[in-house]
Amino acid sequence: MFAVDHAATALLLKRRYPSVPIAPLLLAVQAMEIAWVVLNYLGVERTTTAPVVRSVADIHLAWMPYSHSVATALVAALLAWVAIEFGLGRRELGRAVGLGIASHLVLDLLTHAHDVVLWPGRISPRLGLGLYDTAPFAAFVVELAYGVVCWRLYRGGRGLLALVVLGNLANVSLLSAAIPGPEVFLAGRPLMVVSLVAVQIVVTLVLTGMLARRPAPTTPGPLACPEIVQPTGL
Ligand SMILES: [Zn+2]
Repeated sequence: MFAVDHAATALLLKRRYPSVPIAPLLLAVQAMEIAWVVLNYLGVERTTTAPVVRSVADIHLAWMPYSHSVATALVAALLAWVAIEFGLGRRELGRAVGLGIASHLVLDLLTHAHDVVLWPGRISPRLGLGLYDTAPFAAFVVELAYGVVCWRLYRGGRGLLALVVLGNLANVSLLSAAIPGPEVFLAGRPLMVVSLVAVQIVVTLVLTGMLARRPAPTTPGPLACPEIVQPTGL
């Protein structure tokens, strides 16, 4: 899933855990991607491209067993939750961060080609619904819809909606081989792919954090924190 939509997950978490600052939520939902960027720069993980890049189907996340395996994501989420909730005594922060880390895995599995392994060292099976490979424009529709739903549940303002929509539209040529775009320059330049993702991560996290700052909703929504809206603590 693209950066702006991972960032949108932080809105859901903020809605569910309103007392938690949004900054750690934004970092949590992109923790796997940040690890992927660093490990690609270090040469530990590897990205390749087809000779001609017309869509995301021509970009191959060839080797990313540490940043994007089921086991590393779930263990990282579990460790973060335990360390923050039981180590620091911050229950809501721990749960929100743990969910944020795990959310990245779930969303990537929905859209990615078959490139997510179960754990480092295991080559197959490779998981992923395969939208990026077989139906990239369907992935565009799914991602845009997901981002808008997150915005709606958060009850964000127009600026935040514009960020979600424009952030998705910025990738539309990458998600349709029929729409030409700057992705042609990515052919044979995998580190440029990594840099592009890194820039998108930073820009979308910063803008989401800025635009999400607003007075808390006056009426609790369906995802509001139970500790606040239900005194019984159910
Ligand atoms: Zn990812």
